[in-house]
Amino acid sequence: MSTHMTTRVLIIEDETKLASLLADYCRHAGFQVIAVDRGAQGLALIRNKQADVVLLDLMLPDGDGLDICKQIRQFSSVPILITSARVDELDRLLGLELGADDYICKPFSPREVIARIKAILRRLQQPPPQDSGLLLDDQRLVLHFEQKDVALTSVEFALMAALADHPGHIRSRQQLMDRIYTDHRVVSDRTIDSHVKKLRQKLAEAFPGIHFIDSVYGAGYRLGSLKADSPEDAPDGLP
Ligand code: CA
Repeated sequence: MSTHMTTRVLIIEDETKLASLLADYCRHAGFQVIAVDRGAQGLALIRNKQADVVLLDLMLPDGDGLDICKQIRQFSSVPILITSARVDELDRLLGLELGADDYICKPFSPREVIARIKAILRRLQQPPPQDSGLLLDDQRLVLHFEQKDVALTSVEFALMAALADHPGHIRSRQQLMDRIYTDHRVVSDRTIDSHVKKLRQKLAEAFPGIHFIDSVYGAGYRLGSLKADSPEDAPDGLP
């Protein structure tokens, strides 16, 4: 993050109406806004450290947003929120490991975009999970937190480890399945959901109110805040 007092949101979006609507909402939320309609312009601004958060459209007149995302990651860790017009692209995007921080599908409400930006900023302000006290003992299949040990099944342990290895990043159900079932057996998305449900129940009994696992609608799961705070995607009080 820069030392600027105000967060600068860079909008890379060629749909003029959408860009100006997003810009209005961002300003209303107290952010500074720079909007460009070409990927190359966006890249130049990020190189010059003019952005604290990037909203990146995937279909731009001068190229594929995925390429731009990859190029950004070669020199910058600026948070990127990808906007995609297709829900069915999401799993593919997640599988590509592009290093984006979040994904949102069009049509979206600008309010939801603001909530996602704020969630990204909050995650950046949180201490890294190695300082959170969460320990996963793979010898004993035990989750250790706040002076307590909780015994996990091997599947639950693999799930938790997959999320904890990538704090702040969404893991798709497919990625979680790949991690858990190394024998390539065919399981459905619901299998993951039911394991997550059981794991949450187990952890909720041991640590009431602590957020270990966030659900990201339409995308997958993410390591939670490991705190007893309100859910990240709560409404932010916009008009
Ligand atoms: Ca576009």
